[in-house]
Amino acid sequence: MNPTTPRGGQLWSRCGGCASLLYRKRLRRNLDVCPECGAHSRLDAPARLAQLVDPGSFTALADQAPEVDPIGFVDVLPYPHRLTAARSGTGLAEAVVCGTATVTGSRCVIAVMDFRFLGGSLGCAVGELITRAAERALADRVPLVVVTASGGARMQEGVLSLMQMATVSQAVAALRESGVPSVSVLTDPTYGGVAASFATNTDVVVAESGARMGFAGPRVIRQVTGRELPDGFQTAEFLLRHGQVDLVVPRHALRGCLATLLAAASGGREPVGAGPEPEGPPVSSPPTQGADERDAWETVRLARHPGRPTTLDYLETAFDSFVELHGDRLGADCPAVVGGLAELAGRPVLVVGHQKGHTTADLMSRNFGMASPAGHRKALRLVRLAARWGLPVVTLVDTPGADPGVGAEEQGQAAAIAENILTLTMLPTPVVAVITGEGGSGGALALAVADRVLMLEHAVYSVISPEGCAAILWPDRSAAPQAARALRLTSADLRRLGVVDGVVPEPAPAAHHDPPAAMQAVREAVLAHLVPLLDVPTATLVRRRRRRFRRFGAAGLGARAGAR
Ligand SMILES: [Zn+2]
Repeated sequence: MNPTTPRGGQLWSRCGGCASLLYRKRLRRNLDVCPECGAHSRLDAPARLAQLVDPGSFTALADQAPEVDPIGFVDVLPYPHRLTAARSGTGLAEAVVCGTATVTGSRCVIAVMDFRFLGGSLGCAVGELITRAAERALADRVPLVVVTASGGARMQEGVLSLMQMATVSQAVAALRESGVPSVSVLTDPTYGGVAASFATNTDVVVAESGARMGFAGPRVIRQVTGRELPDGFQTAEFLLRHGQVDLVVPRHALRGCLATLLAAASGGREPVGAGPEPEGPPVSSPPTQGADERDAWETVRLARHPGRPTTLDYLETAFDSFVELHGDRLGADCPAVVGGLAELAGRPVLVVGHQKGHTTADLMSRNFGMASPAGHRKALRLVRLAARWGLPVVTLVDTPGADPGVGAEEQGQAAAIAENILTLTMLPTPVVAVITGEGGSGGALALAVADRVLMLEHAVYSVISPEGCAAILWPDRSAAPQAARALRLTSADLRRLGVVDGVVPEPAPAAHHDPPAAMQAVREAVLAHLVPLLDVPTATLVRRRRRRFRRFGAAGLGARAGAR
């Protein structure tokens, strides 16, 4: 992948991707990305910093790399000789450069690894320097950014280099505990001990296009398995598909992406302590008459209409600056759930929702909005991220139900839903859920345990689909319309039951006739319900959320009936 390294005065280099002969200056202007084939060549740490941070903003941390040769390692050369050669070859003291900087005005502490220095290997000094960078981020309460490029742990320091995986992870854990954001940027290559620690245990993992990341290198895997590896194995796109990274970003967009992430990371609220309880939310609008009069079965059909805005439509229109984050970090990226960072009226929020589609092909590729366990685990990961960063959560619910397949059962669908429900009951930041279309059963509730639950006028929310209910309790599925009426699943019904706090009116006759108006209505309703929650102290917020659901117990419903 690498163009020939420029040596003094060399004007041309050959692209490692397509073998084009490229003018060095042109290549540099293009951020060392081949203009012919797009191959991203490796950058050293100084070049990387120059591309990522605001000019003149970088100040190196004062920490010096301690001189270590802990086990007196000698191969064909004594280790200190190799260190000396690496230093004179790179002009760096060690395989990482750490400092403070700003990215489009947002402050961060940044550590950039340099693959030229003994393969970017993680030794005791590198571990120490990155740990101190993390400690500085913690002390200043500014995000930590780590740009990785490494073959893994440094063999010449023996098992002590292995220990650095734990040392740096511990520093990342301290950031996590304190709600100080951490972001890693994987560049080519990131392997072994670095991949299996701070490259992937940060809050957000960005992979640069062309980066490869893995625990074992391809050569080792080929040797061990005796098999050829699939095309694109361990590439950024492979990692995205397998849920290992949040997003893949081409080099020219990396700085902008980092700026957006850092801005979101810095925009969250500080934990709100005890204080006087503010007023409740504004009284929600009563359901419109149309919703009451419409037949429940007709509403079910409206709720399922393929022209209704989807979660991605809302994210593009009702929210701003959406950055999609992918994957459950376990092995998959479920297409039926989408989510990420966005802004709502200038406030950073985390949005997660079910994704259907407008065409049959869309719907099929999104599994009709039916989340797999990986989808629920992606949602879980995202709401936990919101909790750490102090961001309010908006969920958009539109699913016939959780994926009922064999694979889903094998991967623990029930437990995945259960964990989401549990986590949302404890989440220390405000949560507003909007049922935008179908609120189908446990799959819907997995995203709908919230401080405020809103519902579009012609959405439905039910314990089971009318067809499913009819098949079980009626002689056959053709009784679905009767079942729909009996289940009390319309917005007007649910408002009466207290399950939803507000009904968002749809443009007449329904959302799919005027999607922009529907999206605007959702934006306004979410803002109206979210803003009053922002100042509620965390303990009060969580207590009220639990009380909200506690009242659906038989005792609570009895009290409601008595009061009527
Ligand atoms: Zn090329």
